Amino acid sequence: MDALRDINRRLKQVAEIVNQATSVADDNGDCQVGVDLGTADIQTIAVDGRANPVAAFMTWADVVRDGIVVDYTRACTIVRQQLKQLEDCLGQSVTEVVTSFPPGTDARISTNVVEAAGVEVRHVVDEPSSVATLLGIRDGAVVDIGGGTTGTAIVKDGKIIASLDDATGGHHVTLALAGHMGIDPDQAEQHKRQCQDHSVAEIVRPVIEKMADIVRSHIDGYAVPTIYLSGGSCCLPGFLDAFAAELRDRTVVLPQEPLYLTPLAIASYSLDVAPALRVVG
Ligand code: ATP
Repeated sequence: MDALRDINRRLKQVAEIVNQATSVADDNGDCQVGVDLGTADIQTIAVDGRANPVAAFMTWADVVRDGIVVDYTRACTIVRQQLKQLEDCLGQSVTEVVTSFPPGTDARISTNVVEAAGVEVRHVVDEPSSVATLLGIRDGAVVDIGGGTTGTAIVKDGKIIASLDDATGGHHVTLALAGHMGIDPDQAEQHKRQCQDHSVAEIVRPVIEKMADIVRSHIDGYAVPTIYLSGGSCCLPGFLDAFAAELRDRTVVLPQEPLYLTPLAIASYSLDVAPALRVVG
C-alpha cells in the first residue's frame, strides 16, 4: 500500500494549499491544470509533471444540478476567477486545462463553461476513469459520493465497463441532519463539515446505509473485489465504518481528503504517473 500512501500524501498536500495565494513549488515548470465542475463546488488544481499538486482553488457553488448547469454565468465567473488566482499564484499563464464529466452526462456541460472562461480544453475525461487511472485500478469499483448522487463505475482490466448513479449524496446527509437537529440546511451543512467526531455519522447512519445499499445494487452481478471511495461526502468522520459495515464482503478503500481525489485525478490525467502510484495490480 505504498502507492496509497503516496496518493494520500498528494491529497493532504492539496488540503494544505487549497485557496492559498502562493504556489508550493519554487519552479512551477510545465503545470497541468484540471477543472472539476461539481454540484456542490468547483475546484481547479495544478500539478507538476510528476502529478504533485502545486496550487489548488475551490469554491462552494450551487451552479450544477442533475447534470445541468443551472447558473451558467456564475459557473463561468468562478472558473475564470480560479484560473486568474492560479495564474497569479504560478506566475505563468494558463492556456489549456483538463476537465471532466460524470458518466451519463454531456461532456459539453463542462467544456462550454471552461471555454467560456477563456481556456482551451486539452482533454475531457469521465470522472471515474480519471480516478481509476490515477489509482492504477485494474479491477474494482470507483464510488463517487459527491453533493447530489452516489455514482459507481465498474472497472475491468483498467477500463470502465459500466457506470450507474442514484440520487443520494451529501445534500441528503445535510437534509437528514437538519431535520434531526431542527436547524436550517445551511446551518446543518456547516455543522456537518466542521464535525470532528462520529456524532453526525451516527445521526445520519440510515443515509450512509442507503448509499451502501445503492452501491450494492450497482455492483450486483460484477466481480468487484475492492471499492475505492471518492467524493466529499466520504470525508465525514465515521462514514467509512458505517458504509463498510454494509459491504463486509468487499474491501473498501478510503483515501485521505476524498473531497480532492477526483479533481486531483482530473489534473493528473494523461501524465502517465499511474504505474508509479499503482494501488492494486
Ligand atoms: P457531484 O459529484 O454530485 O457533482 P461534487 O463533485 O460537487 O458533486 P464533492 O466536491 O465530491 O461533490 O463533495 C461535495 C459534498 O461533500 C457536499 O455535499 C459536502 O457537504 C460534502 N462534504 C464536504 N466536506 C465534508 C466533510 N468534512 N464532512 C462531510 N461532508 C463533506
